[in-house]
Amino acid sequence: MAVLKVITKEDPRLRRKTVEVKEVTPEIRRLVKDMTDTMYAANGVGLAATQVGESKRIAVVDVGEGLIVLINPEITASGGTVVYEEGCLSVPGYFAEVERSSWVTVRARDLKFRQVVIEATGMLAHALQHEIDHLDGTLYVDKADPLTLKKGDSKR
Ligand code: ZN
Repeated sequence: MAVLKVITKEDPRLRRKTVEVKEVTPEIRRLVKDMTDTMYAANGVGLAATQVGESKRIAVVDVGEGLIVLINPEITASGGTVVYEEGCLSVPGYFAEVERSSWVTVRARDLKFRQVVIEATGMLAHALQHEIDHLDGTLYVDKADPLTLKKGDSKR
């Protein structure tokens, strides 16, 4: 098990747009494994490669319904609006309310580089949007209502 260092808000690597993965190499598999270990070690519900300083379009998510590995994820459809409180492992010690789509369809590839389509609502939909934002260099604090910012444990 390898736990990677999660970089935080001021680190410019969090603002880079990520590069698509062309194939699943042993290095990519190792990165996904290490990201998963890192997410669980931090009690997170999601982690994007940018958060460990890698500009690759990869994220892992587990909102308590099992691990989802996302390679090259894109939101292909979305709708509705819902507000949830969010935290981020890269913005430690804070929470704030963020309005996002209440449902999303995400197209991605799995660890065998097969195309998968994920239809999500609720917490999973929110987490997917949070992680895909990371892959585009966006942090939840860019979208959060600053009046709702409060101190607490972070999860993503
Ligand atoms: Zn985050």
